[in-house]
Amino acid sequence: AKTLGRGRYEVFNETMREQVRFIQKLESDLRRALERKEFQVYYQPIVNLQTSAIHGFEALVRWNHPQRGLLTPGHFIPIAEEIGLITQLDWQVIQEACQQVYRWNENRKNRPPFVISVNLSAKHFTEDNLVEQVTKILNETGLESPCLKIEMTETALLEEPEKVAVTISQLKSIGIGLSLDDFGTGYSSLSYLHRFSVDNLKLDMSFIQTMNSEPQSFEIVRTMIVLAHALNINAIAEGIETAEQLNTLQHLDCPLGQGYYFSKPLPAENIQQIF
Ligand code: C2E
Ligand code: CA
Ligand code: CA
Ligand code: CA
Repeated sequence: AKTLGRGRYEVFNETMREQVRFIQKLESDLRRALERKEFQVYYQPIVNLQTSAIHGFEALVRWNHPQRGLLTPGHFIPIAEEIGLITQLDWQVIQEACQQVYRWNENRKNRPPFVISVNLSAKHFTEDNLVEQVTKILNETGLESPCLKIEMTETALLEEPEKVAVTISQLKSIGIGLSLDDFGTGYSSLSYLHRFSVDNLKLDMSFIQTMNSEPQSFEIVRTMIVLAHALNINAIAEGIETAEQLNTLQHLDCPLGQGYYFSKPLPAENIQQIF
């Protein structure tokens, strides 16, 4: 029994050692990737659902990993958060996205400028230099503050609400809007919408993709759109994949949306060809 116990212990230990090695490798890979600029920004159009005009884009990061190929955020964002590299990664993404949209907007002199929406991990909102960092990026890239929207999830609001509220009001005072991401999936409190003066409400794709088959989802989507209108907030439907879904959202008077029906997230070169 003793031997078996020890054997088991060592198997467990070996697995742990392997996991530690895996994480260490990823960590050094991530550091190298930040230095060598292996991260690439993909852009997904956010569309005016009534006119089909492109309103702007959401910046979604990809990792061109030299061995593992193109990786989506699910493969590395959680680890980057855990080892404290997410803020650096986000700044690289935001810098590149702002620079790109500034260039696109230069050629749109007589049309409304595109708005770029960036995802900020919850970690940023309790850090002290968020507003300075954003201001620096706007100054460096020349992008006007109303062209930048920051997307955050409800979890970011939970940790230190007082501190987060101050950060958000500072962002607002320099003209930057706020989108509440994945709305309806977290610990949503309707009071957040008011308290943090949210500008956009992103309706989670889980509702959009079931609203035509499940009456409850439909009611949730309908009600969220009514709520957004009543509070003077723009609703943005996520994950629109079919003409039927678009049609439903148009009937519900949802102003904005994004999804594979319009376009997948694409590199800047490819996005340029569709507008
Ligand atoms: P999210 O912010 O909710 O982004 C929407 C996700 O849905 C994206 O996945 C997008 O590619 C995908 N999507 C868009 N339209 C459709 C559709 O019609 N159907 C389906 N099935 N999916 C659609 P992606 O790019 O894999 O990103 C996953 C998550 O990673 C994002 O969720 C966001 O939370 C996070 N993320 C992405 N880029 C960044 C970043 O630069 N910084 C941080 N902190 N997080 C990021
Ligand atoms: Ca988002
Ligand atoms: Ca989302
Ligand atoms: Ca999400």
